[in-house]
Amino acid sequence: MTTKTILCLLTLMLPMVGVAGFAQTANSDGRTLLRAGHVLDVKTGSEAAAQTIVITGERITAIAPTASTPKLSGDTEIDLTRYTVMPGLIDVHTHITMATNFDPLFELTMTPGKEAIIGVENAKVTIEAGFTSVRNVGAGDFTDVALRDEIDAGHIPGPHMQVSGPALGITGGHCDENLLPVQYHVVGEGVADGIAAVQQKVRHNIKYGADVIKICATGGVLSKGDDPQASQYTREEMVAIVADAHRLGRKVAAHAHGAQGILWATEAGVDSIEHGSYLDDAGIKAMKEHGTYLVPTAYLIDWVQMNGKLPSFYQQKMIDVSAVEKKNAIKAIKAGVKVALGTDAAVYPHGLNAHEVDVYVNQFGMSALAGIQTGTVNAAALMGWSDRTGSLEIGKWADIIAINGDPLKDVKLLQKVAFVMKSGVVYKDETQKK
Ligand SMILES: [Zn+2]
Repeated sequence: MTTKTILCLLTLMLPMVGVAGFAQTANSDGRTLLRAGHVLDVKTGSEAAAQTIVITGERITAIAPTASTPKLSGDTEIDLTRYTVMPGLIDVHTHITMATNFDPLFELTMTPGKEAIIGVENAKVTIEAGFTSVRNVGAGDFTDVALRDEIDAGHIPGPHMQVSGPALGITGGHCDENLLPVQYHVVGEGVADGIAAVQQKVRHNIKYGADVIKICATGGVLSKGDDPQASQYTREEMVAIVADAHRLGRKVAAHAHGAQGILWATEAGVDSIEHGSYLDDAGIKAMKEHGTYLVPTAYLIDWVQMNGKLPSFYQQKMIDVSAVEKKNAIKAIKAGVKVALGTDAAVYPHGLNAHEVDVYVNQFGMSALAGIQTGTVNAAALMGWSDRTGSLEIGKWADIIAINGDPLKDVKLLQKVAFVMKSGVVYKDETQKK
């Protein structure tokens, strides 16, 4: 048997195997009846009382009033009658294989093995925080591909993942490795300059398992010697990247702070602008025309201000970007730019992802429902996963969380998820704790 055949067989077997060891409830036999106090429809904001979600295998097969959904023999019941039940959250900008540490020596001494192990730890933390899907945009040595595959195979707990592998960037740019002097000859894994090189790099990443292409359109904050406002890839390079990625069925996420880079990336057809700090009127107009998502990664500003001790060559850039990013995000939201929840988790500890919604609602002025939509329906749409997650509907993955209280009244409740199910398997259940 070839490796490919074995992989195919494993994939086919998945729904029947269930997940042993860390799962408290498997449902390979019969249905699971999830008895909900309320079910939040994240598309409309309606909250229906006393509903039962019926789960067969990894998917939702019915949602109906509890009174008309009796338990049959072979069914498993889960009592969430004191909770509000809603779809699992989605974060479209994580770095699960990376840890919170701004020490340059930590970065320079990272190994693929260590990065993979960090990923295993953080995948568990992330799903237990209620995030049942993530888009991981930037990892070394395809450790994210390995992590995704081991999670999908049921060997370790973690969210559904779309992964990018190494982010593409220019020589000396945000996605290069610039900490060491020339005699060490260090080149970042995703570095590619010029049309032919970026095409080759897109194809290389897809060959080794990338679901999405991440690029650095402009300079960044946590990189040495570059300017967040300066464009890095040219418009022509980005046009080539997007053409190849889209032709091969992959979306493109562009790290972009500077106004010109945001505009060029949007015009080139990228699917999302990450950060968007210096977004101006021209960028807003272009993003609306192209339907480009903004991924604000806003809570990191608050977290770093409270907790971060940055090396001097990052510090001023962080202050400058922090002074404009939120203001411009508010402007973009008011103008009707679409927003998907993204955190940049790793800059701050994994598991705090839901704090992002609080910023959108209590600092950016979104309604609670709109804030929740950024991390459910909007994020699923950006990932091209609207057919499988982002809302509780028949046929979708049983990706379900339970909240003690009403998240439409207080989105901070999303930071204390009591119950997490992914694809019909329970990963966390604190509902019986007193
Ligand atoms: Zn990032």
